[in-house]
Amino acid sequence: MRIAVLQFSHETVTFLPYDTQLEDFIYQGSPVGGEALLATDPKGYMGGFVQVAREFDGVELVGIESPLWPKTGSGSGWVTQQAYEHFLGRMITELRAKGPFDGVYLCLHGAMAVRGVPRPEADIARRVRAEVGPKAVIAATFDPHGNEDEEFLRHADMGFAVKYYPHYDMHLQGQRAARNLVRGIRGQFKPAHVTLKLPIISPTGVQWTGASPWSDLIQRALTWEAREPDLFVNVFFGFPWADVPDAGMTFQVISNGDRALAEKVAKDMADFAWRKREELLYSTKVHHMGPGVTMAREAVAARHTPVVLCDHSDRSGYATWLLREIIEQGLTRTLIATIASPEAVQAAIDGDAQPGDPFDMEIGGKADPSAGEPVRITGTILRISTASTPRAMGGGQQWLLVGFGDGNVVVISPFLAQIIEPAELWALGLSPEDFDVIAIKSRVHFRRGFDDSGFARTILLVEPDEPFLGTVRLDALPYENLDIHGFYPYGAADFEPG
Ligand SMILES: [Zn+2]
Repeated sequence: MRIAVLQFSHETVTFLPYDTQLEDFIYQGSPVGGEALLATDPKGYMGGFVQVAREFDGVELVGIESPLWPKTGSGSGWVTQQAYEHFLGRMITELRAKGPFDGVYLCLHGAMAVRGVPRPEADIARRVRAEVGPKAVIAATFDPHGNEDEEFLRHADMGFAVKYYPHYDMHLQGQRAARNLVRGIRGQFKPAHVTLKLPIISPTGVQWTGASPWSDLIQRALTWEAREPDLFVNVFFGFPWADVPDAGMTFQVISNGDRALAEKVAKDMADFAWRKREELLYSTKVHHMGPGVTMAREAVAARHTPVVLCDHSDRSGYATWLLREIIEQGLTRTLIATIASPEAVQAAIDGDAQPGDPFDMEIGGKADPSAGEPVRITGTILRISTASTPRAMGGGQQWLLVGFGDGNVVVISPFLAQIIEPAELWALGLSPEDFDVIAIKSRVHFRRGFDDSGFARTILLVEPDEPFLGTVRLDALPYENLDIHGFYPYGAADFEPG
């Protein structure tokens, strides 16, 4: 049994002013094929897939050369058609050279947006299908932020989406993809599926599955899966920062040959979400920047520390709103991570900066209006350190640490970086006992290390007052490829599940 393994993943913020280019996908370790591809991300989709696929006798996995996440993480705009065609074209050529295959595993995200290609994941499946033929079985894994409609499963046989946000079950979904791909090739699993789109669009910051009713929605999917063997319920929350025609919430239900069951469950899930739509949109409290930072000060005074201040809205990494407010309100013992400022990092590297050297530069801002103005920081260089943050979160680069004010430290990175574990900060040489407040840029992923781990005693989500890219005010975004007024809560959206 020969199975080809491919990866092509990005979460594209199309409203950012700079495209994701071919060279953004090319760096030490990317693109990668063969065994090295199979060894990437042992705790993620790929690790789960490879682990279970190799539990079956006689399965040969062929790693097709694939790009990993771009250097920019998700802090870059439209993927250029050149980059997309370059990598996909090479994959198809390699499939042809190394075929025939009985099956293909596509390690995808679902929210990649490519100039001129309205539904990239479906397009990947279509072109892979054209190459491997109608008999091969194609299985994929997806992020819950995927923007998908029925087009993908026209060309592929099955998909398995992560349920939790933060994404705790990537390895599990990889395992499911392997098991059911092998069963599909053996004729033991005959996918019958239903895809149902629901006209709800929500900012990602409110989609935390730790809070009701997002947790109830996921529990409902898990209950269906527990009740009905061989039933798989994918809940795509959607990714509103990509201006694509298939954005918004989607349910995908896959059964073993029972389309009526898949349809019943898809309708039940969609009906439940529709009934809960108001709570889904407004369950998470987001504070304006000024009052949010004031609340952080009050929490410090009350010793409800550590406090995590989270600007959930920064999509470029350059935003300075929270840094500026922290300085204006005179916060002390505060760690800000990170402000994207590639020139500052490069200047320090080029100048062979050493710990103790003075630092006086404007950092951040300017990338687009939502980033705000640069902020001048006068302080002392503490160190230049290699980030342990995962590449998809903007890590794997040299970061610059600058001390300023009364016990404050700002971490300057070349790209948007999303800190999801406090350990990523301590790995830079910092100590938790030195800080009362940690200010980060993340919507929900940080809850993995700062909330669900028991680390933070106070968590405050903040955003700037203006309806910028990344804030909860999606109706301020210049969508061209979808009409936001057809979605709850921005228009007269309606849904009849029956
Ligand atoms: Zn996601």
